Amino acid sequence: MNVQSKLKLLCKKIALPYKSELYKQLICKRDLIIIDNYVTGCPAQEYSKYKNDTSENRIKNITKFIHSEDFKSELKSPKGAKTNKKDSSWKISIIKKSALDPNLKIRMVKFYNKVSLLDKEYGISIVDKENAKNKEVCLHEFIHILLESNKIRHSSWKWNEGLVTYLTSYALNKEKNHEKNPQKNKFKSNFYYNYVLYAHKWHVSLKELVKPEDRLKNIKIKIAET
Ligand SMILES: [Zn+2]
Repeated sequence: MNVQSKLKLLCKKIALPYKSELYKQLICKRDLIIIDNYVTGCPAQEYSKYKNDTSENRIKNITKFIHSEDFKSELKSPKGAKTNKKDSSWKISIIKKSALDPNLKIRMVKFYNKVSLLDKEYGISIVDKENAKNKEVCLHEFIHILLESNKIRHSSWKWNEGLVTYLTSYALNKEKNHEKNPQKNKFKSNFYYNYVLYAHKWHVSLKELVKPEDRLKNIKIKIAET
């Protein structure tokens, strides 16, 4: 799968401009992405139960998170994240002030330093295994960048992740996967269940629309209304 060409195709389907220079990938290990999610303040339960709402709380609780079962189970699935240069310095200061293992501290700071040298918004996805699933993660992160660079962002993380999840499937012609309302008991992680549940809601709202302009209009209206 060529991620950039799938993205280009998606842009046509939802009437957004494709700017190749926005999309770059940085390769890193999965654990660093999970730690970055925690430091960013990811609101999903698996992260937020270790109180990551303020910088002070993150410094205090990050080691609790790292030694948790949630962290271990997060390590089992492909991960991606989107980050940017301007966030690197405050993230480094959180890592430095925390009681993280020195080795991990060095790796995290090195990672953020690398990000801080970049001059654009970058999609970061793991590529420890060159499989189709990872390319899907990369596409997912790129779609976040596409939407944000066009100021399309729902204030609720569930609606936002649902839209990106739906559009990732749409770019791959797999949107029919979201036809049915997902059953909660089939998901090990409540976090991912929300992605799929809200992707289904977006599918319902967009599936009848034929013109790319109408799809874009509908996305914008829904974001303003809900
Ligand atoms: Zn996402």
